Amino acid sequence: MSRFLSERFQSLEPYVPGEQPSDRKYIRLNTNESPYPPPPEVMDAVTPGEIAALNLYPSHSGADLIAKLAEAYNVLPENLIIGNGSDELLAFSFLAFGDKERGICFPDVTYGFYSIYASLFGVPAEQIPLRDDLTINPADYFGKNKNIVIANPNAPTCIALPLGDIEAIIKSNPDHIVLIDEAYVDFGGESAIPLIHKYDNLLVMHTFSKSRFMAGARLACAIASAPIIADLTKMKYSFNPYNVNHLSQVMGEAALSNEAYYREMRHEIIETRKYTEQALRELGFSMTESSTNLIFATHPAIGGFDFYTALKDRGVLIRHFNKPRISEYLRITIGTRAEMEGLIEAVTVILAEGA
Ligand code: PMP
Repeated sequence: MSRFLSERFQSLEPYVPGEQPSDRKYIRLNTNESPYPPPPEVMDAVTPGEIAALNLYPSHSGADLIAKLAEAYNVLPENLIIGNGSDELLAFSFLAFGDKERGICFPDVTYGFYSIYASLFGVPAEQIPLRDDLTINPADYFGKNKNIVIANPNAPTCIALPLGDIEAIIKSNPDHIVLIDEAYVDFGGESAIPLIHKYDNLLVMHTFSKSRFMAGARLACAIASAPIIADLTKMKYSFNPYNVNHLSQVMGEAALSNEAYYREMRHEIIETRKYTEQALRELGFSMTESSTNLIFATHPAIGGFDFYTALKDRGVLIRHFNKPRISEYLRITIGTRAEMEGLIEAVTVILAEGA
C-alpha cells in the first residue's frame, strides 16, 4: 500500500480470483469455466474485417447485440444493458442503488463480490445466515426494507430457490431493488426474467461466462424495467461508455444464433456432473443439490484445505474457501468427462493414502 491510497480504501479486501498457475499442466476445475468452446458461429464472426474495425470505438449503446438479446429473452431493448462481465454490471448496480440509508442484504455464504462492492461503494451490508443445510430461507428476506441481492442458483453452494420464493421476496420489498444474479441459471434454475414485466423493482443479471462458454470475452447483460436500466445506463455513461469491446459484441451476437449447440453441450455438462456426483458419493463425499455446472462437496475423513492441497499436488485445481461454515467444502467445476475421471482418480489415491 502506498502512502497515497485514499483512507477510505485502506481496509478494503479485494476479490481473490481462482489461481492460474503455469508451473505445470493442471486439470483446471477451479474457475467455473466451460470445458467447451463457444459455437463455430462465434469463431466465424471474428473476421479480418471486424478486427480491422478495431481502429474505431465500439458501439457504446450495444444496440445490435441488445436487439438480439431482447428477442432471445422476449423483452424490449429498453429492458437491457450490456456490461463487461456481470461483475461490472453488479458494480454499476451497487453504485446506482446502494446508499447508507437503504443498505443491502445478501446471504452470508454467496458470491464474494457482493460484500466487496458494498465495502467499495460504502453501502452498509447485512449478511443473512443460510440455514444449516446451506439453503436460503425466503422468509428471511420478506419486508427487509433494504436492497437485496441473491444469486439464484446460489454460489458456491449450487442450490437453487424456486421461482415462487423469488417472486415472494420481490413482492414483499416493493420499494427496494431485488437483484437476482442468474449466472448459473441455464444449468437448472428457473429464470426470473419474465417477472420484470410485473415488478418494477426486479433486476436480473445474466452472463456469457458460464452457460455461453465465453468467460474470456467478458460479456454480460442486466434485464429489468426500463427506469432501472436507465439508472444503470447513467452509471455506465459516467464511468466507461465503451464498456464492451467491439469483438465481444460481435461474438455475443453470433453466440445467440446457435441455441441448439448450447442445449446439447449444457446437457453434456449436466450428465458429466451426475457422473461425478455419483462417483464422489461412492467415495464417501456428501454434497449439496446442484443446479449449476459446479459441485459443492465435503468428505468426513479429510479437511477442505488438505484436500485442496493434495489435489493440487496431483495436478488438479479446485476451489477451496477458507471461510466460516464452508471451509470443509470443495467447489468443483464440471470439466470434460476425461477431466472428471482424472479428478476421481486423484481423489481415490488421496483417500487411500489418507486412510
Ligand atoms: N455472479 C456469480 C454468482 C458468479 O459466480 C460470477 C463468477 N464467478 C459472477 C457473477 C461474475 O461473472 P462474470 O463477471 O464473468 O460475468
